[in-house]
Amino acid sequence: MGSTLIAADAAVERLATGATWSEGPLWLPAERVLRWSDIPGDRILEWDAADGSSRVHRAGVEFTNGRARWRDGVVQCSHGRRAVEFEKDGEVSILVDRFGDARLNSPNDVAVHPDGALWFTDPPYGIVQPNEGHPGVQEYGGCYVFRWADGELTPVVTDILRPNGLAFSPDASTLYVSDTSAALEDGPEHCIWAFRLVGHGATVVAVDQRRLAEISPGVPDGIAVDVDGRIWTSSASGVQVISPDGEVLERIAVPEVVGNLCFGGDENDELFITASTSLYRIRTATRGLV
Ligand code: MG
Repeated sequence: MGSTLIAADAAVERLATGATWSEGPLWLPAERVLRWSDIPGDRILEWDAADGSSRVHRAGVEFTNGRARWRDGVVQCSHGRRAVEFEKDGEVSILVDRFGDARLNSPNDVAVHPDGALWFTDPPYGIVQPNEGHPGVQEYGGCYVFRWADGELTPVVTDILRPNGLAFSPDASTLYVSDTSAALEDGPEHCIWAFRLVGHGATVVAVDQRRLAEISPGVPDGIAVDVDGRIWTSSASGVQVISPDGEVLERIAVPEVVGNLCFGGDENDELFITASTSLYRIRTATRGLV
C-alpha cells in the first residue's frame, strides 16, 4: 500500500552536502531559497531553487541554529551570542539574550505563535559543546521554553530536561516540544512532549503535559506540523510522522542522521531535511502549517 503522506513518485533527494552538522532549515518564499545552519562550520548556507546551486550566505555567524520567518525578516537562534536575533538584509540585531540578569544558555530553536510572539527553547548545547559555540555556564539554572513579545520574556515550560525543537498545533492550542536529553546522556529522554496552552499573551500557561511519543533511534530534534496537525520529526534514521494521538503514521528513511526539517517550496508541500552533512528534500502529499 502506498503512503498517503508522501507524493506518489517522490523520493528523498540530496540537494547539497559538505556541511559539518546541518540544522535550522527555513524556506524563504520571496527568494525561493532554503536557508540553513552549519553549526560547527559557523556559517549560514543557502540552496537556491532557481538553479539548484548552494552557497554560503554568511560566515562567522556565532553558531546560529534554528530560525523562522518573522515580520519582514528572519529570527534565529545564536549559540555564540546566547541570543535570539533578527536578521534582515544582512543586518543582525539581538532581540533577547537575558532572563533577568542571567544570560540565556544557548537558544536552539524558535517558532512564531499566531499572535506574533516568539517561542524558543534554551538547552545548553552551545555552551557545553565547544564546536557548537563558546564554553559557558548555565546562569539561571534551568533549560526553559520561553515566550518573548514586546521586550518581555516569559518562561512557559520549565521542567523539560533538554527542550529542543518546538511547534504549535494548527489552532495553537497545543505546544509540542522535543526533549533530547538522551543525546549527550544528560538525561533519559528522546521524546516529544505535548502541552495544552491556556490563556493568551504573556499570561499563557502550559498544562496537561503528556508524552506524545518516544522517538527511536536517536532523538527527535527539530519538528514541524502540517496543515492537518500531524507532527513531522527528525530521528537518527530519518523522518517520522506522528499523529496528534501519538501514533507513528510514516517513516521516511534518510541516509544521514536528521537534525531538523521544515516545509517549503512554492506550494509548501516539499519537506526540506537537514541531516548531518547534507540537505535533503522529499515531496509530500500535504502542506506545512508554516
Ligand atoms: Mg535543534
